[in-house]
Amino acid sequence: MQTRSDALSHYPQIGQLIGGAYETGGGRAMHDITDPTTGQVLGQYPTATEDDIARALAAAERGFAVWRKRSAFDRGRVLRKVADTMRERANELARLVTLELGKPWKEAVAEVEQAAGMWEWYAEEGRRAYGRIIPAREAHARQLVMPEPIGVVAAFGSWNAPLITPSRKMAGALGAGCAIIMKASEEVPACALALGRIAYECGLPEGALSILVGDPILISERLIDAPCVRGVTFTGSTQIGKQLAARAVSQMKRPIMELGGHAPVLIFDDVDIAAVAKAAAAAKFRNSGQICIAPTRFFVQRKVYGAFNEALAKAANDLVLGCGFEESTTMGPLVSSRRVKAMQGFVTDARQKGLGIAAGGDAVQREGAFFAPTVITDAHTESMVANVEPFGPIAATAAFDSYDEAIGLANRLPFALAAYVQSNNVHTVNRAIDDVEAGSVICNGWRVSLPETPFGGHKESGIFAEGGVEGLQAFQHVKYAYVA
Ligand code: NAD
Repeated sequence: MQTRSDALSHYPQIGQLIGGAYETGGGRAMHDITDPTTGQVLGQYPTATEDDIARALAAAERGFAVWRKRSAFDRGRVLRKVADTMRERANELARLVTLELGKPWKEAVAEVEQAAGMWEWYAEEGRRAYGRIIPAREAHARQLVMPEPIGVVAAFGSWNAPLITPSRKMAGALGAGCAIIMKASEEVPACALALGRIAYECGLPEGALSILVGDPILISERLIDAPCVRGVTFTGSTQIGKQLAARAVSQMKRPIMELGGHAPVLIFDDVDIAAVAKAAAAAKFRNSGQICIAPTRFFVQRKVYGAFNEALAKAANDLVLGCGFEESTTMGPLVSSRRVKAMQGFVTDARQKGLGIAAGGDAVQREGAFFAPTVITDAHTESMVANVEPFGPIAATAAFDSYDEAIGLANRLPFALAAYVQSNNVHTVNRAIDDVEAGSVICNGWRVSLPETPFGGHKESGIFAEGGVEGLQAFQHVKYAYVA
């Protein structure tokens, strides 16, 4: 564990990573990065210029030509070294996560490990990028199907998982043999840049990876429109994802979209309700609820509804809000005051519509972007929180009477990212796995995303998956070859 002042003194100068060169200053326009814990200025990022973007693209073309020709074994060696180096530097990396995002230290350390696990997974999985042989119609002929890297990938990620999101994209694309240009999130740029610099230390060839920081619209338009870019991977809101996907598809470039969710949780009355509520609170308020798969719409069988609300509210009230570098802190700030205002909107709507507030409900009166962990009860389908993803520390609960009603409530939104089921009845669990519309259905647990498992959304929550063998395939196309 580090002290906050020590961590602040180590905050790096933010630059552009172009090709393999870290470029700072250069007269580029500068923008402030806000410290979510205090609201003070943490640092500044330079805005990538047209020339920076053009140079990153030229470097990516060169880098792709070299990287794709490296054997999968060699590529795997580089990626594995990145994973090892991340683990060696876990404190340095976790320090950046806690500074930029405000994440409590233990969660930040866990994020380093999960992100390193992504590099490790793709180091291995890239070596297993098998094709297949299809029996031919003629004797001695061969019909081969071979996966190939799609080309240069343009990547954009949200701020809420500052190491995990860039790691998924960089390691997935590089593991498949692609080159990648990533636009770092403006809120947490040091994290992605630190990963990029480690990758070059570990032997990545020039140009295989670039990281730009700056104007999202300019960078996304230039990257997506560049002829060498063949895939666009984006993690963020459905609204922006649709814009980027439309631009990509209009040029026949592959859109890999990890978008918004509003995860339902079905809780049946055969469970230990106190234990489930406690675990639910831990899953809900982790990272201050700023997780796309955060359980948020809790549908609870009526018999245990009151007991669930009481236990969830207690667990929410027991959280200790504060600076992520303090040992006692169990929930940090939101990423910015903009998100605090967004939370207030949900609570105002709930109060106007007569919903219950069993815990929290207000911004915390202290410096920084803190909002009390909040439980809104009787959140009927007309309320804002039942329809709009809060992406923050707000849980909404409602009672249900029948299985069919619960499934209807779970599936009524256009999102289908993650869903949770809590029941000790194997029949109920098995039915729910089939009936719930979601990219991941987690039963009697809360952990959704692992390096080795596919993670992606259905409906308006996304296209393609990251993680698992699917995460590699997203960056590959197949070539069919016939040899007589
Ligand atoms: P956002 O869509 O506002 O921003 C995401 C990224 O897109 C940022 O890097 C931003 O700079 C960039 N961006 C913004 N406007 C752009 C534009 N016009 N052109 C190009 N790029 C642009 O989302 P956010 O507020 O950062 O994140 C919250 C949302 O992300 C939530 O809806 C959440 O569910 C979703 N999310 C999804 C996943 C997933 O894997 N499915 C993971 C994390 C977050």
